[in-house]
Amino acid sequence: MAENDDDKGILPAWEKKDKKEKPGLKKHDPLIKPLNRKQFHFSLLYFLITVIALILINTYLFRAKVESIDYSDFKAKIVSGNILRVEMGEKDLTGFSKTKAQIEAYSKTQSGGRPPAEPPKTFKTVRPADPELITLLDQKGVEYYAVSKSDDSWLGTLISWVLPIALMILFWNFLSKKIGGPGQGVMSFGANKAKLVAEGDTGVTFQDVAGVDEAKAELVEIVDFLKNPKKYEAVGGKIPKGVLLVGPPGTGKTLLARAVAGEAKVPFFRISGAEFVEMFVGVGAARVRDLFKQAREKAPCLVFIDELDAIGKSRGFSLGGNDEREQTLNQLLVEMDGFDAQAGVIILSATNRPEILDPALLRPGRFDRQVLVDRPDLSGRVEILKVHARKVKLDLSVDLEKVARGTPGFTGADLANIVNEAALLAVRAGRDKVLPGDFDSAIERVVAGLEKKNRLLNPKERTIVAHHETGHAVVAACTKGADPVHKISIIPRGIGALGYTIQLPTEDRFLLTEEELLGKIDVLLGGRASEEIFFGEISTGASNDITRATDIARKMISDYGMSDKFANVVLPSQRSSLFLPGQSMPGQREYSESTQQYIDEEITRIIGSRYEKVLALLKAKKDVVETIAKKLLEVETLGEEEFKNLLK
Ligand code: ADP
Ligand code: ZN
Repeated sequence: MAENDDDKGILPAWEKKDKKEKPGLKKHDPLIKPLNRKQFHFSLLYFLITVIALILINTYLFRAKVESIDYSDFKAKIVSGNILRVEMGEKDLTGFSKTKAQIEAYSKTQSGGRPPAEPPKTFKTVRPADPELITLLDQKGVEYYAVSKSDDSWLGTLISWVLPIALMILFWNFLSKKIGGPGQGVMSFGANKAKLVAEGDTGVTFQDVAGVDEAKAELVEIVDFLKNPKKYEAVGGKIPKGVLLVGPPGTGKTLLARAVAGEAKVPFFRISGAEFVEMFVGVGAARVRDLFKQAREKAPCLVFIDELDAIGKSRGFSLGGNDEREQTLNQLLVEMDGFDAQAGVIILSATNRPEILDPALLRPGRFDRQVLVDRPDLSGRVEILKVHARKVKLDLSVDLEKVARGTPGFTGADLANIVNEAALLAVRAGRDKVLPGDFDSAIERVVAGLEKKNRLLNPKERTIVAHHETGHAVVAACTKGADPVHKISIIPRGIGALGYTIQLPTEDRFLLTEEELLGKIDVLLGGRASEEIFFGEISTGASNDITRATDIARKMISDYGMSDKFANVVLPSQRSSLFLPGQSMPGQREYSESTQQYIDEEITRIIGSRYEKVLALLKAKKDVVETIAKKLLEVETLGEEEFKNLLK
């Protein structure tokens, strides 16, 4: 009970009010819209209405009864007595069908409510130089008088001045909207495009996200913190401010972020990194500032920055520099340092290119926790299919596990697409239930579209990849001092990698002995060796392994002084940049041609002898490798425990 009260106390005031008025259904919270822009629009609207009203009054009330006629007609009307009074302007003449006294009398009948007399008529004509006019007027006894200005009203002035200005303002507003993107007035440069989705709205829970159990487990703590920040405050524990979700597109990163907000029942801000980068220098930075200001006001809440790489690209990477992006990134760093996690704002962000992120973003206090959201394995795919199949009617004969088996390498988004396609096909066929055949056709369709995006392996390739990865894993398990195998997978990942074996170190290592370095080379060669043993031929799949193995061997000789001939001597060939890790500048080779030849030969010798050793090892363990590879083909991913069990 007490806890419950506590929860309510944390909810921002607006949220409580919101609930009473309209439970749930609001799409966007109006509060989040920049206020000044709203006012701006408001006054502009009134202004326009006034101008239009004035124009209408002018034309209908004053001009409607004015009849423009030719001068000859004008004169004829004077002669015939239709015009009793004439106003002479500099350039034109206005004739009235009644005298001044008559007009006064007429307006009295109007206000008095008696039946109106005939309304006065007004005629207008251009005034030519006619000296006879005055004589004629005198002759006919017409009242006449002159006015100094031809333009009769202040209204004309008003319109000729105000209308262009109003149009200009409109145009300016339109232009600034174009520049600033939707929802941006020029008056609110920095104001944010992040939309706040109120509590009931994300509506997503962890149950809607399947197949990414590891990621979910990492995020449970965040949910707990958002629900109950006081608990953490009391103990003094520090929750990470920023969590980076890393994984290929369509694996459910956005969905996970939504689910965290939904589970914790906190407001959810979503903005894409690309939206920060604008045409004008400083706008992006202002936007970041604004976003954090809003977030702090709504705490506890969750901010989700999609495509973080758009702003977070390593500063060293861009040639020529991009001031705008750099400023935006700096502002983001400043803001992240500036607030205390206890304030209850958590920042999730997503990227599918973690390798290009600026290292500064990944430092403690920023996005110091990274969560891998990978393509789902077989059981993951079954779960995801189940989640999406909840929304469609399936025939009893549909076996989702079989569907999952036929879709290796598919992401959650692909699977959602398949379920949807299958349902559409069923509707098109006039059925009210989805049959297994619909799924087959749907997969075919999606695969045709997918093949361009990411390669799907044919069965033979899958078998090769399975044996290759098992080779790595078995060698790792048999090498003394090698990091234990954490996970083996034959799910294609990123660009190029068709499968992967993850080894996790048991402890931090800063020194590596010669033997350990050689062990690393062994593990890397294990993949190709296994291919050779089982298929009698080698494939291109090991190119990355070989590059890395060669690299280690070269470093042993040139950097670590571990060769016989140049023991304890460094042979520098590359100078690496001190402050930009990972970037090396081609430097001058500082040794002779013959030394280079020695290095090349020595590398070949090391790799060659290690490869022989690995071949022998794997041949001895052929049966084990075969069993594990078979299992891997079946389930696609093996965890640490399963692998160990199979090894025995
Ligand atoms: P990302 O942000 O990683 O590119 P999204 O979160 O936008 O991917 O996923 C797109 C859609 O695909 C989701 O709305 C959901 O319908 C579906 N989807 C993706 N991953 C999953 C998953 N793990 N479980 C259930 N549905 C998923
Ligand atoms: Zn490999």
